[in-house]
Parts: sequence; structure tokens; C-alpha cells
Amino acid sequence: MTAGDGLLADRLASVRARIAAAALDAGRGPQEVRLVVVTKNHPVDAARQLALLGVGDLGENRVDELLAKRDALPGVRWHLVGRLQSNKARDVVGRVALVHGLDRRSLADELSRRAVGAEVEQAVLVQVNVGDDPAKGGCRLGEAAALVAYAAALPGLRVEGLMTVPPLPPAGVPAGQAARPHFAALRRLRDEVVAGVPSAVELSMGMSDDLEAAVEEGATMVRVGTAVLGARPVTEQQVQREEAAG
Ligand SMILES: *Cc1c(COP(=O)(O)O)cnc(C)c1O
Repeated sequence: MTAGDGLLADRLASVRARIAAAALDAGRGPQEVRLVVVTKNHPVDAARQLALLGVGDLGENRVDELLAKRDALPGVRWHLVGRLQSNKARDVVGRVALVHGLDRRSLADELSRRAVGAEVEQAVLVQVNVGDDPAKGGCRLGEAAALVAYAAALPGLRVEGLMTVPPLPPAGVPAGQAARPHFAALRRLRDEVVAGVPSAVELSMGMSDDLEAAVEEGATMVRVGTAVLGARPVTEQQVQREEAAG
């Protein structure tokens, strides 16, 4: 089942209103925060409806799914928000507006090599595992500044900032409250690294349940799926993975 046009438009408007309210609370302009709608697991038709509703930035966490939807909707700025294997670097370079998950030097090397070969400049964010959560991707907080400097010095890469996914909140603690210190730590790190790498201004943080805290702590990009699109349908691949896991 897909959301009807009206429902999708209503949810989108309500997410935009949440972003605007949080920005105003923090003394920021709503236009300082870019909404990236994460369409993973949703059909390409949902992505198409979002584009028609004026959403210019869409995100996916798997390369194959991103490329398939991008073929159908080439006018959208596509964001890769998930983990990236080095052997898929060549599939994304020049095809996505922003890679949110640069987490290691070997991946920076490979993205750079592919970008130089394709004669493009690839924009990236360094993903930081601020909460040191084994379930989440990203480099360690203490390694992030060095990784930013390393990637910024490579040809073909443009480091535009930092990204994080906070740990799941402990039971009973609101998501925003649990995530806020992680968001604040990413912002402090950004304020440090931008002194050496002036292009690294962006802060990609905040999802459906914690976007207000992220915007109040300085997010310039929020990545929102469920609050716009509803619960994600379970995909064929997930069913297969779960069956394989027994
Ligand atoms: C799925 C996903 C999101 C969106 O999450 P929601 O809770 O559905 O808003 C954001 N960021 C990343 C990295 C994701 O994988």
C-alpha cells in the first residue's frame, strides 16, 4: 500500500513545520536546514510523488536501490546515507550529490581515485560514530579531524562536513533528549575542523524522532524517512536475510 497524494503532502508539510519551528526556537532561519527524505524500501513511485511535491533531495542507504531510483528520477539530488563498500565507490562517484558515509581512509582513497578517473569532484561527509555504538557506522570521534584533513587533501574529493547517527535511545528516554549530546558533540567537532577545511560546514544529523534536537544543535541537513513516508515496507531482501539468519 502506498500513501495517497494527500496523505503524503500532509506528512511532508508537517515535517517541514517541525523543522521550521525548531529552527525558529533556536534563532535560526528554516531555510538553513535542508530536508533529505530517505525513501529506502519505498517504491520509486513514492520518490516520484515527493519530487512532484517539491522535494529536491532524496536519500537511500543501499547503492543498488539508489541507482535504480536515480535512473527513474535523474533531476533529484540523490544522497547515499548508508555504509559504502569500497568496491561500490565507482558506481556512486559522479552519480550522487553527496556521500554521507565516508568513514575510513581506504574508502577516501578509492572515492578519490574514481573521481579523478571520471574527471568529477565528489562531495562527501565524514560519518562520525559519536556514541561509539558498535551497531552504527562511522569513524571514532577522536579520529574524525584527521580523516577530514586526509580526505580534503585528496584530489577529486570535496569534504562538505560531518554526519552522525546517534545510538538508539534507552527505554523510556525520548529520542531527542538521548541524541542531543551526540548532536552537540558533532557540532563542536565541525566548529574545529572548519578552521582547517573551510568547505566542511555541513552537519547531517536528525531523523524522524529526533529532528528538533538536531536542528536546535545546528543541523544543516536532516534525513527523514518514516515521518514523511510512514513505516517502511519490508522488502524481499529483508525477508531473505531474516530467513538466512534463521
Ligand atoms: C533510514 C535512515 C534515516 C531515516 O530514518 P527515519 O527514522 O525513518 O526517519 C536516516 N538516516 C539514515 C542513515 C538512515 O539509514
